Amino acid sequence: MKYFIKTFGCQSNKSDSERVAGDYEARGWSEAKSWRTADDIIVNTCAIRQSAEDRATGFLLNVVDYFKKTGKKRPKIILTGCMTHHGQKKIYELLPMVDEILPVNEVGFNSAAVRKDIVHAWVPISAGCNSFCTYCIVPYSRGREVSRPMDDIVNEVKGLAKKGYTEITLLGQNVNSWGLEKVGIGLRKLLMDKDTPLTVKDIPTNQSQYLSVDGITPFVKLLRAVSAVPGIRTIRFMTSNPWDFHDDLIEEIATNDKIDKFIHLPVQSGSNSVLKRMNRGYTRESYLAVVRKLREKVKGLEIGTDLIVGFPGETDAEFADTVALAKEVGWKVGFVARFSPRPGTAAWRLYQDDVSSAVKKKRWQILEDIINQPNLGSLRPKVIK
Ligand code: SF4
Repeated sequence: MKYFIKTFGCQSNKSDSERVAGDYEARGWSEAKSWRTADDIIVNTCAIRQSAEDRATGFLLNVVDYFKKTGKKRPKIILTGCMTHHGQKKIYELLPMVDEILPVNEVGFNSAAVRKDIVHAWVPISAGCNSFCTYCIVPYSRGREVSRPMDDIVNEVKGLAKKGYTEITLLGQNVNSWGLEKVGIGLRKLLMDKDTPLTVKDIPTNQSQYLSVDGITPFVKLLRAVSAVPGIRTIRFMTSNPWDFHDDLIEEIATNDKIDKFIHLPVQSGSNSVLKRMNRGYTRESYLAVVRKLREKVKGLEIGTDLIVGFPGETDAEFADTVALAKEVGWKVGFVARFSPRPGTAAWRLYQDDVSSAVKKKRWQILEDIINQPNLGSLRPKVIK
């Protein structure tokens, strides 16, 4: 029996697809060269923008069309990924060709991944997200944040090293909060702020293995544990969030030779009022403070980011703050997206999508030119010292 996985979207989806493949292979299936010769087609979807959903729908329509025209028996179609947040009823209504839905939070960490790369491996360390940025569908599609136990992660990395892998990327929606998801935000802040008095009573027992009151973030402990695996030479991680980027992590990046010095640190907007509407939990100033500390401590540092233009209500002045931040920070690369309301999110419920497509396009181009275009002469962003 043959399976074929069509993956759309981000690295989390690609990593999930490796595990879905592992699950099939554990049951004796092998990969089909094309969806045309598969018995099962698994479509791993992305819902970050309407256009991403449209691409998955287009693929499904192509499949249906091909089997109708050729008269061949149509394979079973299984839908997974972020489009599953629509719920069974709506999916079967919208996409009647779907035979089965695999909820994305059921993909899990347990199946061994089938990897194509032989040097670099993606290693998931957590699933889901508790942050509820108002524009984002992930907390709805992938559910609450769950950290994978340290032993599982380290054992997988040891296995990879034995097979000859030398580079790994630890993967999660918010890697910096690994091991802290059961702790309330207030308590998390209390635990991370060394100057605030803390008593043992403040620490929940179910987190005691992580929270040793030594001021070291669990994620930093995980980085140290995977760094100790012989054979692993390069460690990367994504995605980091600015509100969980603590001094001990900066120190670890600076002093641990195995950690790659390119850090992806999404800012989304340079305007404090937009950041507030996005529920991002930091300000332009606190983002800059993290960047400054990183630049001070980490030799050879490069930073990348994600940005959204045309968030509801984004004025010219608010966008100008983002432009100014781009020039000030000097990101090596920026993934700039035009806002698209995702049904069910807080932004969709609370705000009007009131920035026109023409304005979104213009703002997108401005940021592309500043951040991503080489040879810009005087417009090249200056690097903050
Ligand atoms: S941190 Fe925000 S943007 Fe990232 S996955 Fe979670 S809710 Fe979405």
